[in-house]
Amino acid sequence: MISSYDFIIIGAGSAGCAAAHQLAQANVGTIAVLEAGLTNKVPQVKIPFLLAWTRGSKRDWKFQSKPQSELGGRSIGVTRGKMVGGSSSINSMVWFRGRRDDFDKWGVAGWGWPDVEPAFEAVEGLIDPRPFPFPHALSSAYALALGDNGYAPPTPERESAGIFHVNLHDGARWSAADAFLEPARKSGRVDLLTKASVERIVFEDGSAKRVVLVEGGEIEARRGILLSAGSIGSPAIAMRSGIGPAHHLKNLGIEVVSDQPGVGDNLHDHPAVGLHYAGSGYGLEWAQVPHWAVSPFNWFLRRKGRLVCNIVEAGAFFRANPVGPDGDDRPDCQSHFIPVMMGYKGTLLAWGAGYSADVNICRPHSRGSLTLASADPQQAPVIDLALLRDERDVSTLVNGVKRLREVVARAPFGDLRGVEEYPGDRVQSDAEIEQFVRDRCATSYHPVGTLRMGDGDAPVSPDLRLRGVNRLWVADASIMPAVTTANTNAPSMMIGHPAGQFIARAVKGAV
Ligand SMILES: Cc1cc2nc3c(=O)[nH]c(=O)nc-3n(C[C@H](O)[C@H](O)[C@H](O)COP(=O)(O)OP(=O)(O)OC[C@H]3O[C@@H](n4cnc5c(N)ncnc54)[C@H](O)[C@@H]3O)c2cc1C
Repeated sequence: MISSYDFIIIGAGSAGCAAAHQLAQANVGTIAVLEAGLTNKVPQVKIPFLLAWTRGSKRDWKFQSKPQSELGGRSIGVTRGKMVGGSSSINSMVWFRGRRDDFDKWGVAGWGWPDVEPAFEAVEGLIDPRPFPFPHALSSAYALALGDNGYAPPTPERESAGIFHVNLHDGARWSAADAFLEPARKSGRVDLLTKASVERIVFEDGSAKRVVLVEGGEIEARRGILLSAGSIGSPAIAMRSGIGPAHHLKNLGIEVVSDQPGVGDNLHDHPAVGLHYAGSGYGLEWAQVPHWAVSPFNWFLRRKGRLVCNIVEAGAFFRANPVGPDGDDRPDCQSHFIPVMMGYKGTLLAWGAGYSADVNICRPHSRGSLTLASADPQQAPVIDLALLRDERDVSTLVNGVKRLREVVARAPFGDLRGVEEYPGDRVQSDAEIEQFVRDRCATSYHPVGTLRMGDGDAPVSPDLRLRGVNRLWVADASIMPAVTTANTNAPSMMIGHPAGQFIARAVKGAV
């Protein structure tokens, strides 16, 4: 035993930091936030444009999906932040709550729109998302593709385009760690431990008592533990700790603490595919060399310039499928606009200038799973995203590509308009688009659902307790029964907010 705290939070990510803030305020005693990764206080995390290089670095878990049967056997990169701030330290900072009815449709008592709206407001009071400050002229034009939206961001409530709101302050990333964890640490009640990777939780008489670290040593939790290791990390830790499908755990030689067949089920993400245009935009060409050369000075001295670009500056929501038989006319696709020539041939950036736009399915039907490859915490779990396994997702993405082309065509780019370089004119028929989709589909890095919250057989209860054991709660994107219509960072932070309150109430009641 190396140390002892009243409460342990596993994972300093979007939700874990928000929960730490609430718990520190509620004064439940001493709190240890255990983070497997490194500090976030480095320029490549703070400077928005450098997120493109943080991916694939030691601050990324660099997970890969299982080969995807519907995508020609391709494995998909599952980027997850491995540092303080979690994925909020590696993401594009785009801010969306989701649709109001996303939460109502979860059908979980206490989590409908009227319940979550105050939590969003509380979170936004601290993180203060703002319009992206210096959009490229191309992004400003894309923001007009579906009519003049004023200065409002696009909304998933209806067809719309706009400049995104982002959690970016003074030209720099403002992550969950900046907004919630740093103030919480100032209370003097919260210790942050980095390079503290939890192997498993140990139970005594059915209650979570301590954690075992991969690096060696154990930390005791006198009052309880919150699992906030994200949609990949949290179910993996739960299973290594003996909570999960009994047959799976027994096959791996893990002692079963609680047979919970739903742990690891229901994994899903927003499938996405992009179109690439050659022309103007940030890129690698001789004329832009001077601009790139001064960009570090612009950022460090004035917090301005192209390094403030968060890659995805604008976007849209639109309907790709016909209105449903029940009158469903909700936007079923989201688009992100990128005023940068991205390398579509396997490189991050390509020579030349250009822009791209992607299309994401807002509410995919396919459901995959997460299982352990072994009991060894050093071995990555088996991540089956099940992308496009449900045929309805294939047709939505095919229709989405067609609609995206129309939306891009409507954007008033003027002289800046480029030509579609990839996939280009050769891909026109439904069959050709479907093949393109299967060849290129990836995700927008929004995995959710692996510790689904709900009634009955759901592994997590509406008050965020992991069923079958005591003194163990879960708060992160894993508890979403279904992914929200847009990006998942704000909803993950929102989930951390009531978690802190539920736990404080339970822990104080137990004293
Ligand atoms: C590249 C990228 C771009 C994205 N862009 C956007 C965007 O623009 N807008 C948006 O809304 N969403 C975006 N997202 C998604 C969003 O960031 C996530 O949905 C959200 O951050 C998830 O929060 P979380 O709390 O569930 O998990 P995370 O924030 O991932 O936190 C989990 C934390 O737990 C730690 N951890 C894991 N295992 C262990 C262990 N065993 N021991 C200790 N610690 C552990 C991790 O290192 C991490 O710090 C993006 C994600 C990525 C990866």
